Amino acid sequence: MTIVMRVIIDSGILMNVTSWAALEDDVYTSPLVFGELKSSLSQQLFALADEYNRIQIVKPLAKYVAKVRAAASDIGQDRLSDADCEILGLALQMKEEDEVLLLSDDFGLRNVSIKLEIKSKGVKTTKQIRKREYKYICNACQTSYDYLVDECEVCGHTHFKRKIK
Ligand SMILES: [Zn+2]
Repeated sequence: MTIVMRVIIDSGILMNVTSWAALEDDVYTSPLVFGELKSSLSQQLFALADEYNRIQIVKPLAKYVAKVRAAASDIGQDRLSDADCEILGLALQMKEEDEVLLLSDDFGLRNVSIKLEIKSKGVKTTKQIRKREYKYICNACQTSYDYLVDECEVCGHTHFKRKIK
């Protein structure tokens, strides 16, 4: 019996057809990621992606996307787009059934994938990614928060610096 690996790709990888077309594993992406491709690629390249018929587009259940948002906020990775959260949610959902590998060159995405114990790999960079946790420091009174707040709980200031813990 062969072990099926599900390869999940983000928009950066999806736009670079040569990086996924040759993969032998099942390739997946999510509707929001695919939507980004549609609006930014030339029709010709889009037709090519379609012709390969290699990519399955799956929308993850909302509960997995919610887990992703919680994990991202846990480690202070607050700059994930909806498409980023959706693709991570898909990886998290599929990880329950199969071996999963997330292909992405996006540091923020991969940082959250480490927190969620999703295996990930870059295409452009082969460098190992270390998990980073951020803290937020009030510009006025220097109070430090482990998560992003709208307003300092001590002095009410609304500007914060992000620092690596
Ligand atoms: Zn403050």
